[in-house]
Amino acid sequence: MRVYVGIDDTDSKRSMCTTYVGAVALRRAESLGARRLDHPWLVRLNPNCPYKTRGNAAVCLPLEVDPSVFGDVWRAVIETVEELADLESGADPGVVAFGEDARPGLRRFYFRAVREIVELEEAMELVRTFAIAHWGYGEMRGLIGATAAAGAVKETLSTFELLAYRTREMWGKERLVDPESVKEMDRAYRGVTFDNYDYEKGEVRVTPHTPCPVLLGIRSVRADVLTGALTLLRVNEPIEFFEVYRTNQATDIHYVERQVQSVRPLESVVVRGLVAGRPRVIPGGHVLLEVSDGTGEITVAAYEPTGEFRRVVERLEVGDEVAVYGAVKPKPEGLTLNLEKLEVIRLRDVYAERAPRCQDCGRAMKSVGSGKGYRCKGCGRVDPNATKVRVRVEREVREGVYEVAVSARRHLVRPLWLQASSGSDACAV
Ligand SMILES: [Zn+2]
Repeated sequence: MRVYVGIDDTDSKRSMCTTYVGAVALRRAESLGARRLDHPWLVRLNPNCPYKTRGNAAVCLPLEVDPSVFGDVWRAVIETVEELADLESGADPGVVAFGEDARPGLRRFYFRAVREIVELEEAMELVRTFAIAHWGYGEMRGLIGATAAAGAVKETLSTFELLAYRTREMWGKERLVDPESVKEMDRAYRGVTFDNYDYEKGEVRVTPHTPCPVLLGIRSVRADVLTGALTLLRVNEPIEFFEVYRTNQATDIHYVERQVQSVRPLESVVVRGLVAGRPRVIPGGHVLLEVSDGTGEITVAAYEPTGEFRRVVERLEVGDEVAVYGAVKPKPEGLTLNLEKLEVIRLRDVYAERAPRCQDCGRAMKSVGSGKGYRCKGCGRVDPNATKVRVRVEREVREGVYEVAVSARRHLVRPLWLQASSGSDACAV
């Protein structure tokens, strides 16, 4: 029988990683006779979820299991979660198994868990109706992500990530990966792997900064290149094992199109409208501006970590037509959209008033006083009827799509080069 085992909320801010728990459980399940139907799935859920630990990732293990050994496989998975989950630090893990026939009934819940805040009771309803088995600890909040991961729509899982894990004695210590080798690997696999290195900030991106078991992760659009990419990295510590996951990272599926009036907090939205207030730089180097679409006005923020991206935001003018992509956060001053991506759809013509040029010699003229005309700075000619002229100012920004620095990019956001190379996004439901 085909079984989709969802696992979530095994980690805390302090330690562990659900992908590690899933990968260990997968190995134990295989030793009991379960076979992989696919790569394990690393499923990113709503990045704005207030309960998330870090990346809000859940795992699904798609398995072919003989019904006679399902009980053993299930127990092995639960034992793995009990053994590895950080239960003392507030993890509320959930594990659930669904059959193939239940998956269509989970589809809508998956998209909602990526785009909205869903309640535990909604997951419990699906678990009670469709699950083959389920297990939870504490408040069992993990059943939300576990159910969503098991219901993930495969067409949205269009990228891959190789995750290499550290041996236990290295957990919490500095990761020993040679940064130069990361750049070499990035050059060798450009156009296939992505987000390996932030050249704008000179920062390695394959290694996380958390005390979890993950040594490094390499993202790609193809699964078959990942082990080759790994061999190019000079890693000066043992690798316990690695696993290649199929993921919904870098797909933009978290965005929903919204008018300003219907924007809700903790969603990731796309709003099209006009720049309604001049961009302003606030202490810390953050850039804020207002965007209006006729139904309302929303504050849009490009924070300092977004890098050079802010220079584009800063150069927008009132009346420019834009599409802003980002997470909606409730702030004391109202809802704020934290920019992840910006499309400059149409730049308004901007004019400035300048002194006229002399009709005789072509040089600049200077006002001789209000309403008294202009005198040429070159030949001295006075023209009492000359007035200021309106000239179009060259804009310092171009129409197009802009993205934040690699190091500020969230897991679900599609990099621009990938968007360009693969046509439309995977957003269709
Ligand atoms: Zn002149």
